[in-house]
Amino acid sequence: MAQDYAAPYFEGIEQGELRAQRCTACGNAQLHPRRRCAECGSKELTYFTTNGQGTLYTFATIYRSAPSAFIDQVPYTLGVVTLEDDVRMLTRIVGAEDADLHCDMPVHLTMSSFGEGPTLPCFTPATLASDGGSLDE
Ligand SMILES: [Zn+2]
Repeated sequence: MAQDYAAPYFEGIEQGELRAQRCTACGNAQLHPRRRCAECGSKELTYFTTNGQGTLYTFATIYRSAPSAFIDQVPYTLGVVTLEDDVRMLTRIVGAEDADLHCDMPVHLTMSSFGEGPTLPCFTPATLASDGGSLDE
């Protein structure tokens, strides 16, 4: 069960939204949810809904030696996305082949699920169609 401080984040996922925290003491924005601000330690955090637009900061495709929970999903791509809302997150990059990806390319939020797993906030290149959904192939 989610911690109370993280509940708005998971409610957002259910509604197709990616919500981040902003510290009212220092203005720092952060993802994923934390009990305290990672910059100043304040507990005065509020949630805002990101616009789901960002750029791909870096990425790597996993071909082997994945954790057992993901072994049946290789190859898959992990990326670090810098959102326009001033937060950066480690996420799955979906709907694109390695050769289609490059750093600084525009990406946007898409909700995806993998196998029997939960819905997760993922990102896909903004130039490609994205309808989210399951990625079972
Ligand atoms: Zn702070």
